[in-house]
Amino acid sequence: MRTSVDAAGNLRGLYSGESVSGDRLLIGSHLDAVPNAGPYDGVLGVALGIALMEALEGKRFPYEIEVIGFSEESGQRFGTPFLGSRALVGRIDEQLLETKDISEISLREAITDYGLDASDLPDALVTPDTFAFLEYHIERGPVLESLHKPLGVVEAIVGRSRFTVEFIGEPSNSGTTPMNLRRDALSGAAEWIGMVEQEANSVNGLLTTVEKVEVFPGATGVIPSNVTMSVDMRHHSDKTLNGTIARLIEKARHVAQKRRLRFDFHRNLDHQAVVMHPGLVHIAERALRLSGCPSSRLVSGYGHDAMILAEKIPSALIFIRTLDGLSQHPGMQISPADVELAIASGLHFLKEIPGFMRKTSVSAYA
Ligand SMILES: [Zn+2]
Repeated sequence: MRTSVDAAGNLRGLYSGESVSGDRLLIGSHLDAVPNAGPYDGVLGVALGIALMEALEGKRFPYEIEVIGFSEESGQRFGTPFLGSRALVGRIDEQLLETKDISEISLREAITDYGLDASDLPDALVTPDTFAFLEYHIERGPVLESLHKPLGVVEAIVGRSRFTVEFIGEPSNSGTTPMNLRRDALSGAAEWIGMVEQEANSVNGLLTTVEKVEVFPGATGVIPSNVTMSVDMRHHSDKTLNGTIARLIEKARHVAQKRRLRFDFHRNLDHQAVVMHPGLVHIAERALRLSGCPSSRLVSGYGHDAMILAEKIPSALIFIRTLDGLSQHPGMQISPADVELAIASGLHFLKEIPGFMRKTSVSAYA
């Protein structure tokens, strides 16, 4: 491969095709990880891309292949994730370049300090003849293991909303205030939290988490007057997600009214669901079957570089099983046999993809 580092710090290796058509397939994942994420988050997908090129033993295809190790996917340093993959779709703007880290170093300065030049960022963009992106990533979840399947094809990456709900009552003495005269914000919140979980159990694929609860005044002998909750909700259909949020807000309003509480609601974060390209999902499934691996479709509960690339080019994401349910742990394990299957399926993917190439052009997709 001809290797280079682009202006966003992405490590790139180009494996040329049998001719210089310019048609290009990207394969990659990220090189950074959050603290204690374990040894396989991201980097396994990069190593797999390189292993695939090695397994080709010099065989060429009617397209070129670029293996990418994305920089700064997790957003630890500048608070914005996917910096590496954003560079490929033109989503590092001036404002983002001026964003500062905890030591007051801007992204632009960090790029310069690394010996790169932010003004070269346009060179990092996907070429017009790039027709697909393939990412391998550890599942970091228990689903594949529970299904006894080594690999899974991701159909969609969930949409995600985070919002704050506040119940406001009145602080009063827990010894002198009879039950019927209380305006207990915490009891109201508890009633509503139960409804949030019930909702998740009744909507297929819905994930709800009341992740933080702050109680005021939080003192012994005092009936709580204020409860603020941070709620995280995810689903692969934006319509279902928004419908559920609206229903839960209505229920919160009802609880507040019944208990003579005030109620407040702020939406803090909204990420739309991203559907992986159906044509590529089909080819990835076929590649899995051809390598002797039972195919299984699943939904990713959090974001990946493939989600960013999918804005510009058809993208596919294949999960590799994580063992023992350790999804965020330095002791995370994977099986070498699963990795071998990933390489075998990757080789089938490379053989099958020309059929897809002929049917899809990037300009039609955009
Ligand atoms: Zn990752």
